[in-house]
Amino acid sequence: MKIKEQLQSLRAELPRQVRLVAVSKTKPNADLERAYEAGQRIFGENKIQEMTRKWETLPKDIQWHMIGHVQTNKVKYMAPYVSLIHGVDRYKLLKEINKQGAKNNRIINCLLQMHIAQEETKFGFNQRELEEVVNNLKINPLPNIKIKGLMGMATFTENKNQIRKEFKTLKQNFDWIQTQLTEVTELSMGMSGDYSIAIKEGSTMIRVGSKIFGHRN
Ligand SMILES: *Cc1c(COP(=O)(O)O)cnc(C)c1O
Repeated sequence: MKIKEQLQSLRAELPRQVRLVAVSKTKPNADLERAYEAGQRIFGENKIQEMTRKWETLPKDIQWHMIGHVQTNKVKYMAPYVSLIHGVDRYKLLKEINKQGAKNNRIINCLLQMHIAQEETKFGFNQRELEEVVNNLKINPLPNIKIKGLMGMATFTENKNQIRKEFKTLKQNFDWIQTQLTEVTELSMGMSGDYSIAIKEGSTMIRVGSKIFGHRN
């Protein structure tokens, strides 16, 4: 199926409260343009340089979401335009985003990433670290960032029960953080292989790449 058809059939499946981030990492501008023509306005990238190149050359009403691991020294390159940073996994990074937000006279939307998978390689806070960050933010608010919610990635497995369990854990933490901070509305969970489970477990934002654009090399 073509990009446009894939997008349309995927959108038809989504409940109204779920937003779709089209994950376009590694894909050429031409592919993003097809999705744009089909009405897609939110794109997710995992490399700041690549995202910035695309931002410079594609229509300005696109909302760019950073979904990858962020190096502190690269925040400055996306601070002028990024719409949402999904992968905030340390307090130091939050402070840098706040600093760059101030320089650009913006409030930058962020999600805190939680580690819910079994793989050691996936980034994110555990529950205790999440509580610590939230406490830090209450004592010492950072005026140029806004915590919009949580993001997480489930284990890469065929075991649906495992995936469901991990998404439930994330949702519980999301319910908790909503009681702690104002303006928390987004739960970013679900990818091509597991978005149906994620939506059943309360996702408000899915990040789908290969199902729309085809496999990456
Ligand atoms: C690549 C990526 C996705 C999309 O993965 P697909 O399986 O292609 O849908 C989603 N989230 C993150 C964090 C990613 O890095």
